[in-house]
Amino acid sequence: MDYDILILGGDIIGCAIAYELSKYNLNIALIEKDYDIADDIALINTEIIYNGIETDDSITSKLEYEGNIMMDKITSKFNIPFKRMGSLMIAKTKEEEIKLDKIYKRAVERGIKDVYLIQGMSVFDIEPKLGENVTKAIYSKNTGVICPYDLALAYGEIAFDNHVNFKLEEEVLEIKKSLKGFNVITNKNKFTCKIVINTIPGENYNIYKDRKDRIVDKNKCKKKRYLKYFLYNKTYNNFYSNMIFNLSDDEDNMYAIPTVSGKTIYGLNTDKDMDNTKLINKASSLLGNLNKDDVNTFYRSSFYCDPIVIDDSCIDTGYIKIKGKHYGIVTMTPAIAQKVCETVVGNLNCKLKKDFIDKRREYYRFKELSNEERQNIIELDNRYGKIICVCEKITEGEIIDAISRPLGARTVEGIKRRTGAAFGKCKGSQCLNKIVSILARETNKKVTEIVKDSKKSKIVPNRIKEFDSM
Ligand SMILES: Cc1cc2nc3c(=O)[nH]c(=O)nc-3n(C[C@H](O)[C@H](O)[C@H](O)COP(=O)(O)OP(=O)(O)OC[C@H]3O[C@@H](n4cnc5c(N)ncnc54)[C@H](O)[C@@H]3O)c2cc1C
Repeated sequence: MDYDILILGGDIIGCAIAYELSKYNLNIALIEKDYDIADDIALINTEIIYNGIETDDSITSKLEYEGNIMMDKITSKFNIPFKRMGSLMIAKTKEEEIKLDKIYKRAVERGIKDVYLIQGMSVFDIEPKLGENVTKAIYSKNTGVICPYDLALAYGEIAFDNHVNFKLEEEVLEIKKSLKGFNVITNKNKFTCKIVINTIPGENYNIYKDRKDRIVDKNKCKKKRYLKYFLYNKTYNNFYSNMIFNLSDDEDNMYAIPTVSGKTIYGLNTDKDMDNTKLINKASSLLGNLNKDDVNTFYRSSFYCDPIVIDDSCIDTGYIKIKGKHYGIVTMTPAIAQKVCETVVGNLNCKLKKDFIDKRREYYRFKELSNEERQNIIELDNRYGKIICVCEKITEGEIIDAISRPLGARTVEGIKRRTGAAFGKCKGSQCLNKIVSILARETNKKVTEIVKDSKKSKIVPNRIKEFDSM
C-alpha cells in the first residue's frame, strides 16, 4: 500500500482532518487540485463562528455548537486571531417575532447555552444604537469572528510538519475499490491506500453509487440563494458592539459584523438579483446612511445551506465521505475533523506519535508589533525593514516568509491571503508588481510564469522586451 489514508480535497475540512490524523503513526497523503490549500475559502478575512441556533438541521446545529466550543482552545494553540463576540438576532415586526420565538424555543430544546430571549428596552441596554423599531431579540453571548484562512493554514502547516504528504496541483479522477483497499487515480499518479476520506463536494465518483444503505442527501438546499456583501471602510464600533442578524419577512436576511481587524461588513442573504446601489440602500436600514465612496469592495457568492453529513456508512470497506456545502463549515470544522479521526482510529490499529509537534511555526505581523520589536526583527533580517504594501504596511520579510513556510504561497492570491498585502485602499495598484517580482525571484520562475490563483490566470501574459526583471 502507498498510504494508510488518502484525504481528497485540501480546503479547511481536508486540512483539519489531516491535522487530527497526523497525531497518529499513519502514512497519510492529501490530494488537492489547486496550487494552494484552502483556496476556496471566501477572500474576505472574517467569518462568523455560529452557535447552532440559526440552522433548521439538528445534526448541523450540533456540529456548529461543538465546533464553537472547541474554537478557543484551537485558536490559542495555533496563535490565530479569534474574537468571541455577542450577537443579536433581531425582530421588527410581529411575523419576525414569531420566527424568533420558534428559534429560541428550538435553541433551548437543543441545549444551546448562553442564549437569551429579550424584549423591549432590554434590547437597547445591550445595543443602544439599534433603531427603535426593534421589538425583540435573541442575544447570544457565545458567537464570534475568526480569520478562517489562518485556521486552515495552521491545520495544513502543522499536518505538513508532522509528515502528511501534500500533493498539490493534482486532480482526483477516479476512486476504485480493490481487494484490500482502494486505487485512487489522479491526473498524475495511481495510488493505493487502505482508507479514503473524500471531502470533494458532490457525488462525482462511481464508488458505491449503487450501495443501498448509503446516506442520500434528501434535504439538500434546492433554492438558489446568494450572499451579497461589502466591506465598509469605517470601524465597526461606529455602528455596534455586537454582531447583528436581522430576520426579515421577505426572506432577505441581513447581517452586520466586524472583521477581525475591526472594519465593517454588511451582508445580505437573498434570492433576488440586486445591484450594488440597491444593496447599499438596503444596508441603510441596519447601518444608517452609508457613503458609497467608503465601500472598499463588493462581493457576491452562492449561499449554501445543505445539511452536513459525515457519511461513514461504508467504513466497513474504508470509505468516508463528507457531504454538503454550508455557510457554517468553518465553525463545524474542528468537530467534523475530530469525529472523522475517532472513526478512523477505531478502525485501524494505530497509536499516537510520541514526537507529534502541536505548534505552528512562528511568523511576524509587522504592523501589529511595537517599534522596539520591529527594530529587533530588522536587526536580524533587514528585509523586514522594507515596506512592500504601503496601505497595509506589509514588509518584504513577511512576503518571503509566506513563500518559504511549509506549504508556502506559489500564487499572488496565496501571498495576499497569507499576509494581507494588496487589501488596502489602493487594492494593490502600488504593490502587486513588486509581489509578482518577489514571487518570481524566490521561486526561481520568470515573471510571466506567475499566476493569480489558477493555471489560466497569468498576471503578466507576455514579455514585450527582453528585460530580466519588471
Ligand atoms: C461567501 C462565503 C462566506 C462564508 N462564511 C462563513 C462563515 O461566516 N462562517 C463559517 O463557519 N463558514 C463560512 N463559510 C463556509 C466556508 O468558508 C466554506 O464552506 C469552506 O471553506 C469550504 O471548505 P470545505 O473543506 O468544505 O471545502 P470545499 O470548498 O467543499 O472543497 C474541497 C476541496 O476539494 C478540492 N477539489 C475539488 N475537486 C477536486 C478533485 N477532483 N481533486 C482534488 N481536489 C479537488 C477543491 O479545490 C477544494 O479545495 C463561507 C463560505 C462562503 C463561500
